[in-house]
Amino acid sequence: MFEGTVDKFGGTSVAAAENVQNVADIVSCRPEIRVVVVSAPGERFKGDARVTNLLRDWHAARQSHDESNFFSLQRMILERFRNIEEKFGLHIAEGEVSQIKNELENGASLEHTESRGEYIAALLMSKILGFNFLDAASIIKFDDRGSLLRGDTRKAVRARVRDTEEKIVVPGYYGTDRKGAIRTFSRGGSDITGALIAAAVKAERYRNWSDSNLRHADPRIVKRARHIRALSYEELREFALAGASVFHPDAVLPVQEAGVPTEILNSFDPTADGTLVFSDAMPSKGSGFTGVAGERGFSIITIRKPQMNDMKGYLLKPLASLNEHGVSIAHLPTGIESLSIVVKTKEIEKNIEKIVESLKVRSDTPRVEVEHSFARIALVGRNMARVRGVAGMLFTAIAKAGVNVRTIDQGAPEMTIAFCVNESDYEKAIRAAYNEFFLSSWQRFLHPLFA
Ligand code: ASP
Repeated sequence: MFEGTVDKFGGTSVAAAENVQNVADIVSCRPEIRVVVVSAPGERFKGDARVTNLLRDWHAARQSHDESNFFSLQRMILERFRNIEEKFGLHIAEGEVSQIKNELENGASLEHTESRGEYIAALLMSKILGFNFLDAASIIKFDDRGSLLRGDTRKAVRARVRDTEEKIVVPGYYGTDRKGAIRTFSRGGSDITGALIAAAVKAERYRNWSDSNLRHADPRIVKRARHIRALSYEELREFALAGASVFHPDAVLPVQEAGVPTEILNSFDPTADGTLVFSDAMPSKGSGFTGVAGERGFSIITIRKPQMNDMKGYLLKPLASLNEHGVSIAHLPTGIESLSIVVKTKEIEKNIEKIVESLKVRSDTPRVEVEHSFARIALVGRNMARVRGVAGMLFTAIAKAGVNVRTIDQGAPEMTIAFCVNESDYEKAIRAAYNEFFLSSWQRFLHPLFA
């Protein structure tokens, strides 16, 4: 039986030597920590590069035979790790970085290259903490298309981690496919590594340490946004999907299914209360607004066709076409003679002409338009459907702030009301929604846990 916790430290928590020292202090006064999962060093200050991005650029420089960039990126990456290891009297980074250089020269894949930030960070952290190093390559398993193999991963983690007394450090973000090639999760994926390990061993707790605790709104936009003390797994997933970036949405399900109590904490303020994630089965159900979150970088594709609403199965054709182009749909407001499809701009920008052409053909209409530069915002809450007038209050507040809403989407369970605004109005809309629901009389609907 596994006793102890799994603790994951995000990129900003290991961005520089003093942050790493902070992590070492956190770990040393918590003897229950059995597994530490680390990200690659992230931003040290606003505008700083994450090591994963430097690695991605390094790979691109190799692909485009850009010699001078290739060498300057190698220097920058080495410096980031040297800055950390010098403080602890270690000398690992130079050998590791030149190993990546050799691998790049021998055609290393992008995923392999991007994973090396976590790999070196975990090697260093294992030496600093005096824990054993366990390469994620041997326990996190993907199929050859890069999709996670949950069952194989669970088995490998149990075989290697569950029945030992060891304390280990595991690099986040990557694993291997059946051919042994390195595959990565989507960005921010170290949270998933931590959640998978915690779930497989049924850890006493999964703690996710990042640079901020979970608030009702992004504190970079609403400075004094209040801290969320507890929320359900489902709310966390909705909130994360809406853009609250302290927890990867795909990290929720493993811990939820395994019933592992999860906590989100701030490594920059380790004694402050964290956010406890609880199961929906708890008797404390009630209405509560979780928060307001969002993201920039959306486009709206509008398809117009007379009497569209009368045609059976009409939706299927454009959706199939987007699916074939690998585009996922963020939301889908439909009208009587028009259909709007909200998608991430980065998913369509490379193939935009082909996509529009295929939509015209499949939908049998020449009227397909694409507009860019939207932000998608979502108000997330529990059982909001039971509270009359939520949507009315939300959109009145947004309108009063002088912001025009372009699309609205609210599912019947009403856990999320999502809408799009122009990117330039993003922060204004977030502040307006926050002020309406988290500073006003609506707070009386908050569950006592939030109050
Ligand atoms: N290093 C990866 C990223 O920057 C993964 C992670 O931090 O979780 O997205």
